[in-house]
Amino acid sequence: MDLYFDNAATTRLSDKALEAYIRTEKEFFGNPSSVHREGIKAKKELERIRESIASALSIPSASLFFTSGATESISAVFSSLLFNEPGRIIISSIEHEAVSSWIPILKHHGWDAAVLKARGGKADPEELKALLTPDTKLVAIMAVNNVTGAREDIKELVNTVREYEKRGNRRIFFFSDSVQALGKIPYDIKALGIDGASFSGHKINGPRGIGMLYLRNPSSFRPLAPAGGQEKGKRGGTENLPAIAALEQAVLSWTGSFSSGYERIGSINRDIRIALEELGMEVLSPEDASPYIISFVSPLPSEVYVRMLSDKGIAASSGSACSNNAKGEGEKILMGMGIKSSKARNAVRISFSGDTDAESAAAFIKAIKEISNGQ
Ligand code: PLP
Repeated sequence: MDLYFDNAATTRLSDKALEAYIRTEKEFFGNPSSVHREGIKAKKELERIRESIASALSIPSASLFFTSGATESISAVFSSLLFNEPGRIIISSIEHEAVSSWIPILKHHGWDAAVLKARGGKADPEELKALLTPDTKLVAIMAVNNVTGAREDIKELVNTVREYEKRGNRRIFFFSDSVQALGKIPYDIKALGIDGASFSGHKINGPRGIGMLYLRNPSSFRPLAPAGGQEKGKRGGTENLPAIAALEQAVLSWTGSFSSGYERIGSINRDIRIALEELGMEVLSPEDASPYIISFVSPLPSEVYVRMLSDKGIAASSGSACSNNAKGEGEKILMGMGIKSSKARNAVRISFSGDTDAESAAAFIKAIKEISNGQ
């Protein structure tokens, strides 16, 4: 099996998560909305899990909603804007396309969108201040970037928005896509003071197709499609209970072992950075980036270098392509950080998970040395 260094794209399902999935599928097959005993049993389990995850994240369980993934969580928030009078939204220049793809849609509906440059990967609170207008309704800045691991000073950015709010009477919704942050960097929703956040199961060894939406004040949130009224009317559709149970295991495992994982991956990250630099390759990820992601400039177009790594049994990804469906998105993100397109085109991303160990890091270092030596 390949050494898997593409965990920012997706992670392997953990055994615990898989076990929880199978057990819940068998034991709690009822529809949580049904009023018979099987339904009530499933509903009870759903609410137990919500409490458990909320407690691990130190947030009220009433602020947590299960969705099919971060993309849906983000869509729920951005589509709900369409109920409002058009105003301004501000997003950072390095947002995932799940966020940035809302710009043309909102513009089409009369909204104005401002893009906050995240030079060197960092959104500057002073620059945010300059973009805030009396009709700004939403600010979206991700906690950790998926291409470089760059992390934003969300607390400072939220404070900037809250200071601005004091001038008028209108609240601005601060959203932070937190997919690459949960369990991977110190992350405390309440302390950050954000109004909304998105999370994804498959980035933390949970299943694909499950995610979460945090809403600090759910009563003021009107979803575009409440449908069957599940999730207290905030997200329609029958709850994916087995995946939610598996997600619980994923969240508990990442939050429970946060400190040791952070230290261990930090040390692996340092070793790899040193090796890359010794081989003359520039590391694009800022020094203080999430330890779980490293982007670097390879001497060849990224697709070629990624194929060479693949031939050596290492799964990495092209930092510029990001995903096969959204070719060029990663390049846009890197350019959004102020990186020239010639460098962005050669960018390669490697990303780690809790199961990345020193041995696989050593194998990666050996592989890049061989490639540099023409082997
Ligand atoms: N936001 C970020 C930062 C991501 O890395 C991803 C995954 O690629 C998403 C959002 C979308 O997540 P999901 O696959 O759960 O919809």
